[in-house]
Amino acid sequence: MAAAESDREVPSALCSEFLNFSAKDTASRWLQVSDLPREVYQHLACYVPQIYCQGPNLNPQSEELLTQLLLQSPLEWYLCGEEPSTGLAKLEQINQPSQLCGHVFKVGEPTYSCRECAADPTCVLCMQCFLGSVHKEHRYRMTTSGGGGFCDCGDTEAWKEGPYCQKHEPNISDSSQEDPLAHLTPDMIARTYNVFSIVLKYAVDMLTWEKEDELPQGLEPPERADTYYCMLFNDEVHTYEQVIYTLQKAVNCTQKEAVSFATTVDRDGRKSVRYGDFQFCEQAKSIIVRNTSRQSKPLRVQVMHSSVVAHQCFALKALGWMGHVIRHSDALRRVLCQVGLQRGPDGEGSLVDTLMLCDSKMWKGARNVYHQLLMSSLLMDLKYKKLFAIQFAKNYRRLQTDFMEDDHERLVSITSLSVQLFTVPTMARMLITEENLMTTIIRTFVDHLRHRDLQGRFQFERYTAQQAFKFRRVQSLIGDLKYVLISRPTEWSDKLREKFLEGLDAFLELLKCMQGMDPVVRQVGQHIEMEPEWEAAFTLQMKLTHIISMIQEWCSSDERVLIEAYKKCLTILTHCHSGFTDGEQPITLSMCGHSVDTIRYCVSQEKVSIHLPVSRLLAGLHVLLSKSEVAYRFPEQLPLSELSPPMLIEHPLRCLVLCAQVHAGMWRRNGFSLVNQIYYYHNVKCRVEMFDKDLIMLQAGASMMDANHFLMIMLSRFELFHIFSSIDGRKRYSRENANKDVVQQNNTLIEEMLHLIIMVVGERFVAGIGQVHVCEEIKREIIHQLCIRPMAHSELVKALPENENKETGMERVIDSVASFKKPGVTGRGLYELRPACAKQFNLYFHHFSRADQSKAEEAQRKLKRQQGEDTALPPPVLPQFCALFGSLVKLLQCDVLLSILHTVLQWSLETSGGHWSESMLQRVLHLIGMALLEEHQQLENSEEEATFSFTLKISRPGEAPSNSASILALLETLQNAPHLEVHKDTIRWILKTVASIKTMRERTATTPVADHAGQGQEETVRDKDKAERKRKAEMARLRREKIMAQMSEMQRHFINENKELFQQTSLDELEASASTSVEHSPTSADAALVCVGPRRTRVCERKQVVTCILCQEEQEIRPDGRAMVLAAFVQRSTVMSKNRQRPPPDPEKYDPIFMHPDLSIGTHTGSCGHIMHSHCWQRYFEAVQAKEQRRQQRLRVHTSYDVENGEFLCPLCECLSNTVIPLLPLKKTSSSCDPPTLGPWLKTIGQQVRSLHSAHRKAKATSAECLDSEPDCPAPQGFRLDHTPTSPYSDSIKEMLTTFGTATYKVGLKVHPNEQDPRVAILCWGSCAYTIQSIERLLVDEEKPLFGSLPCRQDDCLSSLVRFGSACWTAGCLSTVQTHFIRLLAALVPDPQVNGSPCILDVDMFHLLVSLVLSHSSVHCLDDSGVTVDVGQLHFLHLVTMAHVVQILLTSVPVEMTMEQESGGAEREEEEAVCRLYNSLRTHLGSALCEVSSGWHLWRCVKAGILPYLRATAIFFHHLNGVTPPPELHVVGPGQWEALCGYLSLPCNLLQLFYSHQDLMEPLLQGWCSHPAVKQCLQGSGTLVSFPRESNQLIELPEDYSALINQASSFTCPRSGVDKSRAPTLCLVCGAMLCSQSYCCQTELDGEKEEVGACTAHTFSCGAGVGIFLRVRESQVLFLAGKTKGCFYAPPYLDDYGETDQGLRRGNPLHLCRERYRKIQKLWRQHSITEEIGHAQEANQTLVGIDWQHL
Ligand SMILES: [Zn+2]
Ligand SMILES: [Zn+2]
Ligand SMILES: [Zn+2]
Ligand SMILES: [Zn+2]
Ligand SMILES: [Zn+2]
Ligand SMILES: [Zn+2]
Ligand SMILES: [Zn+2]
Repeated sequence: MAAAESDREVPSALCSEFLNFSAKDTASRWLQVSDLPREVYQHLACYVPQIYCQGPNLNPQSEELLTQLLLQSPLEWYLCGEEPSTGLAKLEQINQPSQLCGHVFKVGEPTYSCRECAADPTCVLCMQCFLGSVHKEHRYRMTTSGGGGFCDCGDTEAWKEGPYCQKHEPNISDSSQEDPLAHLTPDMIARTYNVFSIVLKYAVDMLTWEKEDELPQGLEPPERADTYYCMLFNDEVHTYEQVIYTLQKAVNCTQKEAVSFATTVDRDGRKSVRYGDFQFCEQAKSIIVRNTSRQSKPLRVQVMHSSVVAHQCFALKALGWMGHVIRHSDALRRVLCQVGLQRGPDGEGSLVDTLMLCDSKMWKGARNVYHQLLMSSLLMDLKYKKLFAIQFAKNYRRLQTDFMEDDHERLVSITSLSVQLFTVPTMARMLITEENLMTTIIRTFVDHLRHRDLQGRFQFERYTAQQAFKFRRVQSLIGDLKYVLISRPTEWSDKLREKFLEGLDAFLELLKCMQGMDPVVRQVGQHIEMEPEWEAAFTLQMKLTHIISMIQEWCSSDERVLIEAYKKCLTILTHCHSGFTDGEQPITLSMCGHSVDTIRYCVSQEKVSIHLPVSRLLAGLHVLLSKSEVAYRFPEQLPLSELSPPMLIEHPLRCLVLCAQVHAGMWRRNGFSLVNQIYYYHNVKCRVEMFDKDLIMLQAGASMMDANHFLMIMLSRFELFHIFSSIDGRKRYSRENANKDVVQQNNTLIEEMLHLIIMVVGERFVAGIGQVHVCEEIKREIIHQLCIRPMAHSELVKALPENENKETGMERVIDSVASFKKPGVTGRGLYELRPACAKQFNLYFHHFSRADQSKAEEAQRKLKRQQGEDTALPPPVLPQFCALFGSLVKLLQCDVLLSILHTVLQWSLETSGGHWSESMLQRVLHLIGMALLEEHQQLENSEEEATFSFTLKISRPGEAPSNSASILALLETLQNAPHLEVHKDTIRWILKTVASIKTMRERTATTPVADHAGQGQEETVRDKDKAERKRKAEMARLRREKIMAQMSEMQRHFINENKELFQQTSLDELEASASTSVEHSPTSADAALVCVGPRRTRVCERKQVVTCILCQEEQEIRPDGRAMVLAAFVQRSTVMSKNRQRPPPDPEKYDPIFMHPDLSIGTHTGSCGHIMHSHCWQRYFEAVQAKEQRRQQRLRVHTSYDVENGEFLCPLCECLSNTVIPLLPLKKTSSSCDPPTLGPWLKTIGQQVRSLHSAHRKAKATSAECLDSEPDCPAPQGFRLDHTPTSPYSDSIKEMLTTFGTATYKVGLKVHPNEQDPRVAILCWGSCAYTIQSIERLLVDEEKPLFGSLPCRQDDCLSSLVRFGSACWTAGCLSTVQTHFIRLLAALVPDPQVNGSPCILDVDMFHLLVSLVLSHSSVHCLDDSGVTVDVGQLHFLHLVTMAHVVQILLTSVPVEMTMEQESGGAEREEEEAVCRLYNSLRTHLGSALCEVSSGWHLWRCVKAGILPYLRATAIFFHHLNGVTPPPELHVVGPGQWEALCGYLSLPCNLLQLFYSHQDLMEPLLQGWCSHPAVKQCLQGSGTLVSFPRESNQLIELPEDYSALINQASSFTCPRSGVDKSRAPTLCLVCGAMLCSQSYCCQTELDGEKEEVGACTAHTFSCGAGVGIFLRVRESQVLFLAGKTKGCFYAPPYLDDYGETDQGLRRGNPLHLCRERYRKIQKLWRQHSITEEIGHAQEANQTLVGIDWQHL
């Protein structure tokens, strides 16, 4: 059937051929011929151009079909030798399915990796495999694929454990070694071989074909037509906009077509934009070229003959076809692999080689198709994967060079396949040994960075844009190198050693080009003119960081390699600094009786570089020598004697001094580039192979030198030698340099130097330096981070270095040092340091920044204070050094250091002068403490005599001639110095330790040693006293400061002070406190509280006084007083909508008088509850407007609010508002003596209405000058038609009535403001009803009582809204409001003079009630008969309630009655009555209503259905009439129904309403039921709303976030139909998935030119302008309001650490947090989304600048 249909569309010539064509015959003919390739080519030459490219528009369906029948089918027949479907099925049976999953990832599809078992982070599983694997119970990582790449399930090398999922588990009879071809007949193999080699050759020929007008030999078409395509190609230079604009000009297409062209070009890499004769196409080409060549190179366009395009199309199809065929059989796949990799007859490259080498010339679509085929063939066959890898490695340099010239993303380049090949460990090692891959990659990389300086170092300074682009691309080579090195060999062969070391040579050459690059010279006098380029060098360093670490790890796994590598590295380093003394004068330094030779070099004057990768690699290897003990076992093989320690430390020391000088402010004139470099030098991303290694190099050097010499060189490099070298150096120095800056600088330098000494001696947590386990290092990092403050998991991860697998190793140790605290509804989970770990805190931890250090110090001191401990922070006890570094401890007691310590202590005696600093002293004390601990430890541990004698040395006074006091004596003096109060605790601790060490020494080894901490009991008591006094003094000071701060705060924000006051007291409370009479007088049974009707509880008159937040004046609320207003926000809402399909009404024609029960769109009014004078507000708003105008002139930025639209922020709480509601007093009430019952009253009303009808007609007639034929209707008694009521309100209140009415009208209808429009009042009543209904729902959903649980601001808002509603008629035209009333009444009581009343099923009864009550005043004001409004209110309530009961019975009784009838007994009366009513309805409607005999059931439906209405009604009358609700309604519990009915003056048996007015009701019922729409509705046209309406909820979300990602990944753009959406976004209100942030799905909003994104468009159709979305790829909630407002919000998904992952960067598994989702839902139901956006935008100005409408 399908065939018959499609042949209508193909040319008839082909049609007849097609009918006669037999694939079987063709195939058998082919079996006979001798030159098969020629035959097949002829066949293709004939058919391909006839099938493809028959016009401007392709016809994929007929093409597909004809391709199958005419082209593929004969090939399949030939291949199988029988009916293809049978043949392929047979093949499938003997197929050995691959154990590799090989699923190729789509863009955005979720991928999973196991942090515990994956060999490297590139090993991933598809969702299906993951769910069937063991890893789902492990610690896994989830990411979304960028497209390409495939599932590694089944690859044993990719997983340390669990390589197979359940599906890919190999059979027990494993035959993977077996040759798949063994099951095929030789004949079959030969035929397959023939077909594949011809087709693949054909495809390769065509895809790499470059001529536009010619075809390869044998493919020339029988006849040539003058038909061409103008083909446009993709590039990465031109933007979407440029292409779209150009196309519109060049080929005369619409914007839409141009967008579609551009989208296809972007996706497929090319697209024909014009079809026709050569001339026609050439013309388009020249326009495109001309238009795009201005800024850059032009867009690539080719005019191609249609037959060429046709063959290229089929070539792609053919590749796909082969991919499809080999899916049936591993044997066929093997044949295809063979064909692809076979070398040509003359030894030329294989077909796959040809494809690879032409890769960069092909268009995107072609590349994708053949990459796909490679992945499903070569990469799925383990034997050929290896062969392919070898070819790939052989071509590596060429491919990379091509890629460098190409401008496409790497994803569509053949080079991106490296990840599939190189990450297989055996393959990588094979390629290193066989193809020397490591060397190839590094050499290729170095070759592409040609710019060098005179010394051969890289120079990025003068890069052009082109070179910078290339630099970015060349970085992918480092990625390849990382893949190759990522798994370390467990066994080494000699060949591997050889090739690795060869690779290392190349790598060292690379590092050599970096050693010393980007040198800086200190700028003096003038600031630098241009910030020098520094980023490129750091990018390179960062990219190489992991490589350098990995190379060290490779080296550490083999002793011979390590020794060789060490030698090579040393040679290169020596070479780098050959003759580092050249040109630099040698000098001799002498101090404390020691002297050393060094060079004269000043960091502050000469060139210095931060890049020293060779030195640092050597430092790393040096540690490995110690860690692996190679240094002790084979010292003879190491060049240790060749080492020159001063040479080793020279450059790292210079670099560290540079940092110190920058801190000291000496390099200010060198600009930010240097500051940035220093920052990254210490940053967690770089420090492992920068700062850390420099420190290690100093440790290594110092351990090989005399300690005194080392320190003297250090002093010299810090340019401090002269200060410490002689006793009076400092004095002399300070006299010469009175300059304060210089003194300050030197102080900082001394601090930095002391810190460096602390680090050199104290940093022992690297295995190989200190005797520690590997995990100690990470433990210590974590401890020190947590010493600053408790941290979230992600914060910790960020602060710790990651290895090449992006792991920090934190999980292994975190539980031993920290405890986890779960998050609440906001915030995140935090790790807290275990108290026991606090004693390991080191104030001078080398990775602390100065800020970290002071924060940590403060936190730790506070902690100690809280625990009532001494606040001293002594150095922690350290592990022992390894032997190679053992001599470092000598630094602590060498003469030079002692001299330095002595000098600083001496300075500290001076109370003033500023020649020393507290930090300096603190560091000196720390060093002394370290030395004491060292001595203490030695005494404790060593069996033999301790060599450390620090205590002795510090007790010795200075030698003659100075005879200065000993260090110990100085300390004792300092202990009592009043200016050193802060350090007293530390000094005391030191003296105590000294004492304890002395005791230890005295007792000698025989007596057990007492713990030094446990000594001095009596002392501690005194200390405690003192500490307590100090603490109290401190507290008092803090309190004083706090009070001072509060006072100034108060002066500045006087208004803010009143905020609390206003939030605490509301109007209601003010009223309540005044109306004590009602509230507190005991209520007897008959004095029950009633809020409506003549029996209404009277409310005492009371004065309401409020305060204006702007002028602080008090004001009484009176009708004739100055107007007071509430800031309010009016918005359209669909929160309660039961029908999101209903199209939005046309604002101009829409008649809003009746609300449909589906509540599809309403107007909500909210308020923050803040009160102002109307004139104060007006002045404020004018000021906002003026400010906005000025600001717009200056800079065109948006605010979070739209002033032109009347928006402003509440001056007190900054809540978004767009109007104000006037506050009105309660109406005065008079009692009516003898209220008429419903019947007579309706009669009177009817008369009044009739007289109004005629009066209105008359008014019209006089104005239209024509006569009326209808008879006059006289007015009833006491009804004064000619009466003109006077408004009781003052002018300012009147003005505000208009203001708010107009605002509600404008927003509610989305029209321009027009205070004359008759619909203004209707909108106000509607908003009143809608707001009450939504609050009623909210209270139900939150399970809160009807009264007493609302925040004051909502109560105030409702009161003023309702009272405004009852007064708004005074601001409009009286007869208009009367007309509304007449129409409203006619919906219930038929009125022959009103047409088009709706049926009662189409009316929301609560809206009707509110409108009736509020509009009635316009008629009642003419009534002088003494009947009060109360009477009307009660009768309206009864009437509407009855209508609602009927409505419920008609709509909400379920058809099927499976429930057994349960007779309640207690409500027998109600049940019988409701049955009677239901049956009488059935008599009116007949079969439209199903039969129900259970009264109990009916009554239950009525009660449940009407409850929301009654509750809303109670809220309404409460606010209208101000009667306090009965206590039962202040709680949730039983008795609600009775309390509610009583309060509303309704009988508990609502059916009584019907039977007490039976004669009246019968005709009404008949009237309601006979409305033609009722039957239609019941028979199912249109949606029938049933009661109670359930509250809307946000959609259900899955528990596991990956389910959402998976759902989104298969979502295609609804416009283009095939494309994967780039930003799939889920509407949380209705569940629609949208294609956001994309050209394809932009639409125009009604009546507006500007195109908006899918989310914004959906926002208007689904949420009346408010939208709540989940951006699935980003894991981010998006709030939108209107076109310009939006913000991002935390998603309701958390990882196990209680954190969200916005942007899905961390990849921890995410699970739904229901509390957080409920919170979002609450925001929505409360109508607070817009407000939330406003607050977010106020807090974060960058949100304001985002083009939300494009999302
Ligand atoms: Zn899989
Ligand atoms: Zn699997
Ligand atoms: Zn695992
Ligand atoms: Zn005021
Ligand atoms: Zn406010
Ligand atoms: Zn929606
Ligand atoms: Zn789209």
